[in-house]
Amino acid sequence: MIKELVRDEAILSARCEKATPEDAAVAQDLIDTLRAIEDGACLAANQIGVTKQVAVYFDDDQQPHVLYNPRVMMGLGAARVEEGCLTRDEVSKVTRYGKIKLCFDELVDGAFRQRKRDYVGWEAQMIQHMVDHCAGRLI
Ligand SMILES: [Zn+2]
Repeated sequence: MIKELVRDEAILSARCEKATPEDAAVAQDLIDTLRAIEDGACLAANQIGVTKQVAVYFDDDQQPHVLYNPRVMMGLGAARVEEGCLTRDEVSKVTRYGKIKLCFDELVDGAFRQRKRDYVGWEAQMIQHMVDHCAGRLI
């Protein structure tokens, strides 16, 4: 279901609770909402008012990827970059790693499986932005 974006800083700055397999509907809402946004690339649950650690991003082929409880375990090659956000008007300068090792949960047959995966470049940057949202960090 397409949801309205939340710009309330009190909601966006709250630390999100751990997601559970019951949050699959939230992930679907994120995918639906993101598809409805022109040039939308990534969205976290608190941006649609749900303070759970769930985020979705689209890869270069517009395929959705759902990350439950994402955590950056390691980062390499930090650089200052300019970054926009769907629920913030101005562009911000932030420090992002060029390469990360991410730990997250994936929903497989109704249960979470923990995954560890490496990401680089644009994908790594979007994911770090999502991890910040899940932690209630505003850039
Ligand atoms: Zn954002």
